[in-house]
Amino acid sequence: MIEPLIKAHFPGAKTGAEITETYLDFISGAYGANKDKILFATSLCCDDINVSTDFRRVLTRPFTLGGLGGLPYAGLTGMVAYAHHVPDGGDAFIFYGPHIGITDEGVLGQLRRPGQQHLTNSCGALVLALERLKNGAEVLPEQYDLDSQQLSLQRSLYPLKDAGSGDITIKEAVNFTYYNVRTRLLRLIKASRSEFNCNRIFLLGGIIINTSPEFNDYVDIRDFEVLDPKKIKDPEIISILASEAFKAL
Ligand SMILES: [Zn+2]
Repeated sequence: MIEPLIKAHFPGAKTGAEITETYLDFISGAYGANKDKILFATSLCCDDINVSTDFRRVLTRPFTLGGLGGLPYAGLTGMVAYAHHVPDGGDAFIFYGPHIGITDEGVLGQLRRPGQQHLTNSCGALVLALERLKNGAEVLPEQYDLDSQQLSLQRSLYPLKDAGSGDITIKEAVNFTYYNVRTRLLRLIKASRSEFNCNRIFLLGGIIINTSPEFNDYVDIRDFEVLDPKKIKDPEIISILASEAFKAL
């Protein structure tokens, strides 16, 4: 059984199917949202393994805000475009967070993937970022063009490195990355709040726990909130919002 091993690290984790059902029922039941008018967005790592646990099975047309590690690399331009694409009279729903693999023996940060016998890292990008932080790897000029998300992910872990004295574990990195993904998303929403025509932005954040193919994947939900973009105060002043091309994204 994989569940006790997962719960030892993430006591609040539930299966991806359970999370999907619970929150979709909640949104359409308690909040009366019409599922056909929800524009779904994700800020998740681009790793193919993450399709098994999210809402893409139920909600179509996800707007992809995220990249390596789950950080919302689409940025302000992406968030404004997403805001403009929400159906008339509909709602926005963003599911976000990093991911972490677990082996059948309960080791975090690794995963046996579909069709493979050997283990690979999950989140591989986070494990690489940790390794480079530990070794103080030099940044090569071509990485800025060819590997910019990875560099950015590595940079996002600097405060964690500066705060601690020993090696950063993958669990610490995933928890910290959850905070980073969430903080950046909230800043992006705040900065683009005037671009949303809907009254509700449903935000669901958590850590996806990837398991071997024969087991369910799990999600440890950390935050669920409903924002009214018209009531968000203190918008950050971003002058590019005034450009015509930006308004028509
Ligand atoms: Zn990943």
